[in-house]
Amino acid sequence: MTISVQEDRDGQALESLSDNIDAVNILKGQIKKEKAMHEASEFDANKDKTQFRQYEDACDRVKNFYREQHEKQTVAYNLKARNDFKFKTRAEMTIWEAMEKLNTLIDESDPDTSLSQIEHLLQSAEAIRRDGKPRWMQLTGLIHDLGKLLFFYGAEGQWDVVGDTFPVGCAFDKGIIYPDTFKNNPDHGHEVYGTKNGIYTPGCGMDNIMLSWGHDEYLYHIVKDQSTLPAEALAMIRYHSFYPWHSADAYTEFMDEHDHKMLEAVKAFNPYDLYSKSDDVPNAEVLKPYYLELIDEFFPNKVIKW
Ligand code: FE
Ligand code: FE
Repeated sequence: MTISVQEDRDGQALESLSDNIDAVNILKGQIKKEKAMHEASEFDANKDKTQFRQYEDACDRVKNFYREQHEKQTVAYNLKARNDFKFKTRAEMTIWEAMEKLNTLIDESDPDTSLSQIEHLLQSAEAIRRDGKPRWMQLTGLIHDLGKLLFFYGAEGQWDVVGDTFPVGCAFDKGIIYPDTFKNNPDHGHEVYGTKNGIYTPGCGMDNIMLSWGHDEYLYHIVKDQSTLPAEALAMIRYHSFYPWHSADAYTEFMDEHDHKMLEAVKAFNPYDLYSKSDDVPNAEVLKPYYLELIDEFFPNKVIKW
């Protein structure tokens, strides 16, 4: 069964909210003293990270968004979303077609914001490529936000597509953005889900944690099943919005041995997502042949089930 695109989805609103979420994460990153990274990125070392636009509006809009998200991301919703995902094919198209689709759905004609989706993906990939990072990581940059297609293929709103992610099924950590907005979540104060470890045991591994449903988790499952990308790439995709973990050191008690390596990978990826947006706008047509070849290297079937 293939489900058609929902007509009434406002792509620009999603894009603008998504930009505001990034802006707030950039701001948080500036406030927090940066820790040394496993593999420091070079491309943004000389970039003035304070140049990004004013954040007060962003913070207001973002807070309203998180209030809704933090009320609605429950264990029950998570189970339902994962189940829906498993039994539906939303579309069939190549990676490049998906990039173009996302671009048309999220209209880039908004005058003062921002880049189109394709430009953001190409900028991330190009920054990774310029720094001489592996080909699989370049491809990860190219595809990392394609899960936003979910907004047009069955999501309930913006709250289950974008925004920082966090575990459900255990207590909401103070390291999550706007932690006070969880008080109306039915799982808050729940006899199991409201406890420190909830349904999990320490050391169980992040792959066994149910992260809030959104573009990261959706794309992770698609890429895991249909590509030969390495575990680090899958972690970068799955956890790129998991700021409580990769930037606030929350939920580390659930990590297993493998997750320490994955965390380093996720941290190494983050600057290419957040700080490549001020780079020169890439020319998609010029870059297309290079990336088509790269896509073919890691996706054995050209047509992907979304
Ligand atoms: Fe993202
Ligand atoms: Fe991104």
